[in-house]
Amino acid sequence: MSIYLDNAATTQVCPEAAAAALDAMAVHYGNPSSTHAEGRAAAKLLERARAQVSRALGCRSDELVFTSCGTEGDNWAVIRGAEYQSRFGRHIISSAAEHAAVLRSLDYLESQGFEVTRLKPRTDGSVAADDVLSALRPDTCLISLMLVNNETGAVTDISGIAQRVRAENPHTLIHTDAVQAFLKLPFSAEMLGADLVTVSGHKVHAPKGIGALYIRSGLHLPPFILGGGQEHGHRSGTESLPLIAAFGAACAAAEPTLEADLDRISALRSYAAERLRSENEMLRIIGGGAPQILCLSLPGWRSEVLMNCLEAEGICVSKSSACKKGGRSYVLEAMGLSAPVIDGALRVSFSRFTTAEEVDAFCSALTGARIRLRHR
Ligand code: PLP
Repeated sequence: MSIYLDNAATTQVCPEAAAAALDAMAVHYGNPSSTHAEGRAAAKLLERARAQVSRALGCRSDELVFTSCGTEGDNWAVIRGAEYQSRFGRHIISSAAEHAAVLRSLDYLESQGFEVTRLKPRTDGSVAADDVLSALRPDTCLISLMLVNNETGAVTDISGIAQRVRAENPHTLIHTDAVQAFLKLPFSAEMLGADLVTVSGHKVHAPKGIGALYIRSGLHLPPFILGGGQEHGHRSGTESLPLIAAFGAACAAAEPTLEADLDRISALRSYAAERLRSENEMLRIIGGGAPQILCLSLPGWRSEVLMNCLEAEGICVSKSSACKKGGRSYVLEAMGLSAPVIDGALRVSFSRFTTAEEVDAFCSALTGARIRLRHR
């Protein structure tokens, strides 16, 4: 068994989610749109899962639409959000550190005549509210900024930004990609004040291929996927009940111990950072803020070499984002970090299943690798 410290890439499916998926495949396998007994039972499961995810996200059930993944939620919110609000203007504010699901949507919108301001993150990886406000214009139709960065764990103050933007320009829609923040930071969709919030199941111990988009009540976001009018007309396609039920179960399973789990994960992160700093004087900690992500760098050592050394000891971490195999991190570049810092960066990410022994084994292996490589 390997030591899995790449939970920002994906997480292990928890037993509750796996059991819920199996039940929805083998027992309650009806189509939620069917009117017979099996269909009604499936529809009940669907609404139960919607209530579970909405509760975890801090919104009403009728504000939550299931999607196929976080990428779909981001594409839908950014593209349809900008198009819908374009009657007020065609200017968009985002950042250079967004996930590719947002960045590629922005590229598409630019090809359709929208103008995009891509803000540079600060050196800590977050986006400054003052920078957003300086870029805001009367024709800004959409702001899309992530709550937690997937490579650095940097947290952007979305609720502060939303409040100030609302006061200046009430027509500007606000979207946040909260994929790495959901069930990791104490926030609710209502408290954030965003119009659109993207989340994904596989970062919170549900299977891959399921996500959800929060659409603030009263906002008539046009659908992205057209067809039979499922999800109350918001998203067509027969609902993937096994994945949806698993997503609901994963949220419900996380809730009772969430605060204690996050405190523990946060303590593991601080412990690893402190121990590694004391053993490796050149170590740099990058970003930070979210409890589950530790981004660090050993300038002068190459991340892929360090990763190979860790892998030889059965330890899985990541170079930067798992979504873009190889290549230099555009997020770290946008933060203005030097080439040696970027080239020596590793992302270590924890979950509630991570143990102190695993973190210790990782710290010993990384320091050991650094010492061995120096003596070659
Ligand atoms: N947004 C962020 C910040 C992510 O980290 C990811 C996945 O890594 C996504 C969006 C995409 O989510 P999914 O893998 O569910 O498509």
